[in-house]
Amino acid sequence: MEINNEVTFKQDFKFFLDSSFYLRLKDFKLHEQKLSNDILILPSSRINYLNKSISLSDESFDTISNTSDMPNIVLGSIKNFNTIEQFKNLKKIEHLKEVAVDKKYDKFFFHIISFADLKKFSLVYWICVPILKVDGLSFRFEQENNSVVDIKFDDSLPFDIVDDSTLICNFLFCKIDTNSGKLELSTLLRNILIKKTLMSEVKKFTLYIISKQKKEFQTFIITPHFEKEKITFDDVTIKGWEKNIDSKLIPKFINFSSLLDPIKMNEQNVSLNLELMKWRINPDLDLEILKKQKILLLGAGTLGCYISRCLLAWGIYDITFVDDGVVSHSNPVRQPLFNFEDVGKYKAETASLNLKKIYPLCQSKFVKMKVPMIGHSDTIDEEVFLKLEKLIQESDVIFLLMDSREARWLPTLIGKSENKIVINTAIGYDNFLVMRHGDLSDENKNLGCYFCSDILAPVDSLKDRTLDQMCTVTRPGCAMMASSVAVEMLVNYLQTKNNSDDGLVENQIRGFLNDFSNIKNIVNSYKYCSACSNSIIEEYKINKWEFVKLALKDSKYVEDISGLAAVHLETEQLLLDMEALGI
Ligand SMILES: [Zn+2]
Repeated sequence: MEINNEVTFKQDFKFFLDSSFYLRLKDFKLHEQKLSNDILILPSSRINYLNKSISLSDESFDTISNTSDMPNIVLGSIKNFNTIEQFKNLKKIEHLKEVAVDKKYDKFFFHIISFADLKKFSLVYWICVPILKVDGLSFRFEQENNSVVDIKFDDSLPFDIVDDSTLICNFLFCKIDTNSGKLELSTLLRNILIKKTLMSEVKKFTLYIISKQKKEFQTFIITPHFEKEKITFDDVTIKGWEKNIDSKLIPKFINFSSLLDPIKMNEQNVSLNLELMKWRINPDLDLEILKKQKILLLGAGTLGCYISRCLLAWGIYDITFVDDGVVSHSNPVRQPLFNFEDVGKYKAETASLNLKKIYPLCQSKFVKMKVPMIGHSDTIDEEVFLKLEKLIQESDVIFLLMDSREARWLPTLIGKSENKIVINTAIGYDNFLVMRHGDLSDENKNLGCYFCSDILAPVDSLKDRTLDQMCTVTRPGCAMMASSVAVEMLVNYLQTKNNSDDGLVENQIRGFLNDFSNIKNIVNSYKYCSACSNSIIEEYKINKWEFVKLALKDSKYVEDISGLAAVHLETEQLLLDMEALGI
């Protein structure tokens, strides 16, 4: 065979990009790549030699493990930009040349530039199979008689580069017509031949073409042929951008939103804003710890509604509402989970259902139940107590959002006994209080509870109340502010819980709307506290329902156990002594 046979090159593969490719790119951008726009390697896109196509799917991002698939896989790369402007302003020829010339991309079949709009589920992209060309440089070949050569072929690729002058090629990647003496190679091999000729000054290449069974090979000697003197890399032109359906050289645009399941899209994007916090503002933000929390909301009124919304926005989806009330006509305008048509329905159930309407994949639940209250003998019910105890045991965080102080006593006690995070939120006319009760991790800080500053056990405050005392008469913004502070306090605590140097030392925040001030306090635990003192917790742990029953009947019993009664006696005696001394 004559050495003057010219090698021809052909490139006519079509690309098919599906939605799984986009979702994988989006996931990678959001969680790993973030603000970087470094070139990302796509290790395994499927190539079909028969219909000349390459599929870009989620598999393109994986490293292939099934070796039998390997000859049908090609390497690629993608540069995904942060903004559409960066994509538009890219000097595309220069960029392509940089990639094509880079030795590390020698075996890469294609390159993509893209901008993925994560919010709108759209992708602007342009695929390129770089084709290098130099006027005045062609390649000639001659076929050598087969001889025994020990060839190790990397099965992972359709071709391999052994050294600067030795190439191995899968039979699928070229066409040999021995009758007419034609050798047609992929343009990718031409790129390599040009690069090696101009950069490494190779004068002769050996190309082994492996047969289908990988047992035989044909050997070709390929020599560069210069038609003019002094050809350098500056003479290389590059092209290869894919044309669109109208054969125009412009990028493609796909909006995947109509192709994807709306629930799936919702799931994908619901935490987008949270994930974006990690890009720049707060890279250490631990969203997983938030996601794991099981929340119990005791009270599904104004505070319960706002707190659940704020939790949802933080990516906390396991929320149980507890309430026995029904939605009244005055509720929907203040309580954001209720509408006019919900009037008369149970609050806990309606809040749970409506939260699911906001985010269908949230795990909201409800229990229709009235929390037993200290000093209220009408709430003595062992079954209800056991249900509350179980709910608290199964939760990680308990929010106390009820109307009265005495309703907060039993969950404070059980929460402390079970070492749960308890956050108490209460609102007045133009002020609010948010407080995290001390748990075991705060032991050295000696943090107290809502009742630690009381010198009396809570009593029945619900008797003889006029209408303005029965309803929470409060400035409408108060509940929103208190709810936000309560959830943000929880988030701060969870983020810094295991790092004693960080975080808020104070466990109570009081807010005032008359002068828009906030005050942070440390509430220490009180030795004789009616809800969290050691004597109360111990008594509760030993006698459980028997203790609770007596407390619900009469709060004085709790004062006796906690030592508050003795403190009162001491104080009275002190006053008498002072009187006797004429002070
Ligand atoms: Zn206490």
